[in-house]
Amino acid sequence: MEDTIAAISTAFGEGGIGIIRISGEGSLKVMREVFVPAVKGEPENRKMTYGHIVDPDNGQTIDEVLCVFMKGPGTYTAEDLVEIDCHGGMVPLRKTLELVLRKGARLAEKGEFTKRAFLNGRIDLSQAEAVIDLIRARADKTYDVAIDQLEGSLSKCIRAIRKKLMDALVDLTVNIDYPDEDIEELTYSKLSKTLVEVRSDVKELLDSASTGRIINEGLKVAIIGKPNVGKSSLMNALLRESRAIVTEIPGTTRDTIEETLSIKGIPVILTDTAGIRDTDDRIETIGIERSKKSFNEADLVILVLDGSCPLSREDRQIMEYVEPGKTIAIVNKEDLGHVITADAVRELLPGIQVIATSMDLGSGLAELENAIVGRVYKGNVRQNESCMVTNVRHKGLLEDAGKSLSDAMALAKAGEPLEIVEIDVNCAYEALGEIIGEAVGDDILDEVFSRFCLGK
Ligand code: GDP
Repeated sequence: MEDTIAAISTAFGEGGIGIIRISGEGSLKVMREVFVPAVKGEPENRKMTYGHIVDPDNGQTIDEVLCVFMKGPGTYTAEDLVEIDCHGGMVPLRKTLELVLRKGARLAEKGEFTKRAFLNGRIDLSQAEAVIDLIRARADKTYDVAIDQLEGSLSKCIRAIRKKLMDALVDLTVNIDYPDEDIEELTYSKLSKTLVEVRSDVKELLDSASTGRIINEGLKVAIIGKPNVGKSSLMNALLRESRAIVTEIPGTTRDTIEETLSIKGIPVILTDTAGIRDTDDRIETIGIERSKKSFNEADLVILVLDGSCPLSREDRQIMEYVEPGKTIAIVNKEDLGHVITADAVRELLPGIQVIATSMDLGSGLAELENAIVGRVYKGNVRQNESCMVTNVRHKGLLEDAGKSLSDAMALAKAGEPLEIVEIDVNCAYEALGEIIGEAVGDDILDEVFSRFCLGK
């Protein structure tokens, strides 16, 4: 029998209400001990009841609450579950929890409620992982993908792929156990066909992983350019609020400033860097080192040029840095009249998208935002978001599966005995199984659920 666990499930701090959750076979017993309903009677399944939390040892009232008992398995954990809605302050919650713990529950570990939902088979491991992505989502697209995964979209893809491999494994086993030359030939050709198909399914999922990572963690965008071209103004315009310092003195953006925002539902982590330029000033040198670093770490670089003055040596130096694959150039201060046009910059930076902007007028910003979001999808048609890999653990396992499949294909092609081919097919099958939590060890579960918050 699993023990009964309890925790405060709402965020710390002051709130309208705070919820204590109790799960396990003993939860009803604990509820009976600590909760006194206003109208006497047995707790009814799934009925919210008004009453008080009272310490039975001294009769002291701890809080005025609403309490509900939910009979398993149709609950979050798939066990008997009690929720107590306390007043949302730290003291009533702490005191209620202490009493609940004293009356037989144990403090839940991080993510333990969700872990039980997984262990009890209500959700699979990838769905459990989606719970944490959903809670952490800071942008709409992150949320959309998390909720799809919670509903089982990724699990469905993985199960479909595994089904094909399982069929192949059954064929292999039959042939290994009852060898027959004619059937064996058929087995090789059928197997090769399945392996090609499954490897392409796996590759398709892996192809979604770079977009998936960005949707989950955010697109890292570095804004670079010499001082005074309008980098901070750009950052502010994108943030629509003035958190980065806008100044007319060159070289004062000494450090990098980082802000997270959401552009069309995609989380974007913006860094405004000190201008990359040769300097003897020590502090500024550090800033420049950081610029180069954030430049290298960025998924996308926005190079800002001031179109109202001729290009300087500094501009040209910075322009040497940029790579077409991950750069968008903007020619700013269009309102002052452009000495250098976007077309002129396009000729200097072949293969790089160039946009004319004015931070004062707000022109070119919509185009820039579209260009930024376009980078997330790498210009491809929108990927099938319902089958997207956003989690590094899943990505690693898909890579393992892909490798085993390639090995199996090579062995089958070389006409190696089916027993040998089977080993790799089985490895691929198991790697995919680990994504949804089949036959995973405690170490992996601990790792996954340690990312959770208390009370979830
Ligand atoms: P940074 O050093 O690259 O971060 O440049 P800032 O954003 O601090 O801008 C430097 C100066 O240029 C400030 O006075 C801004 O108000 C001004 N500025 C920025 N963008 C524009 C623009 O599009 N048009 C005009 N006229 N001024 C701008």
